Amino acid sequence: MKKLLFLSILILSFLGCKNKEELNVQSNNEKETTEQKVNDFAIVIHGGAGTILKENMTPELEDAYKSKLEEAIKVGYEILKNGGSSLDAVQKTINVMEDSPLFNAGKGAVFTNAETNEHDASIMDGKTLKAGASAGTSNVRNPINLARAIMDHSPHVMLAGKGAETFAKEQGLDLVDPSYFYTERRFNALQKIKETEKVEMDHDDKQAFYDPFIKDSKYGTVGCVALDKNGNLTAGTSTGGMTNKRWGRIGDSPIIGAGNYANNATCAVSGTGWGEFFIRAMVAHDISALMEYKGLTLQEASKEVIQKKLTELGGDGGIVAVDKNGNMVAEFNTAGMYRATMNDKGELTIAIYKE
Ligand code: ASP
Repeated sequence: MKKLLFLSILILSFLGCKNKEELNVQSNNEKETTEQKVNDFAIVIHGGAGTILKENMTPELEDAYKSKLEEAIKVGYEILKNGGSSLDAVQKTINVMEDSPLFNAGKGAVFTNAETNEHDASIMDGKTLKAGASAGTSNVRNPINLARAIMDHSPHVMLAGKGAETFAKEQGLDLVDPSYFYTERRFNALQKIKETEKVEMDHDDKQAFYDPFIKDSKYGTVGCVALDKNGNLTAGTSTGGMTNKRWGRIGDSPIIGAGNYANNATCAVSGTGWGEFFIRAMVAHDISALMEYKGLTLQEASKEVIQKKLTELGGDGGIVAVDKNGNMVAEFNTAGMYRATMNDKGELTIAIYKE
């Protein structure tokens, strides 16, 4: 009898172990499916977030934004499709948006209080964790090219002002007369803000992001993130900063970890929004850290940082991101964000408002 009891306990515990093993196998499989590559390569861009409402938009302006986004993302897509690096794809895609007056970067940069234009930009290579950033330059036509040159050809990560401009000259980058950056729309936005400042001492800080096209506040920074066929991630961001900025104000865009971050172990992130809050929340790095240390998916990590952390702090804006498996995300807490995605099948999505 005792022998029989012993034998049945042995059989039962053997079966138990087997079930547990099966369970382990199953949970590993589940992990594998969430970890699976969804795209061999992928690219996501943004052209700024803000109070972008359909009722304030004309169909012509909407078309202009959409076709520029499409033109820009296709440049990067072609590079990736032909086996090029995500670094080149990000840089060249951003160049298209920098050369357009529609966005607050390069040609369309906003004006400072002193009626000048001061550009900030950064790029980060997820493979080497190398990064380059430039801040407060006034004569470099494509600030993202300067950021790339700083990463590739200097021992530093960030250069600012006159020194950065000297380096740009030494590198043979395209320099322009500062008047190249003049656009009537941005100049009028500055005048409007200065007027309100005169009458309202306690003015709304969001005035600093006023955009006469959409008749409300908009952050017009441009950004691009990409994954290439070799599994390398890159993030790039370029901006004119904030209208009416003074005292050499620098935003989040050239701050690695705040407005830009890439790491092959996790993801690449580019942000747009109220820079001071993005710096304080370390938005871009936080998304990567949640994935790396807590195992969150890109979607979960982006939601957590944008909808909770940033929002609770009082900041607004958004990010675009792509992870090492080619998952793409656009997360924002504003009414809209100019954005576009392309996957390895060449499928394109372009959107402006919240769905
Ligand atoms: N983040 C930028 C800044 O604060 C502004 C923007 O996104 O347009 O400089």
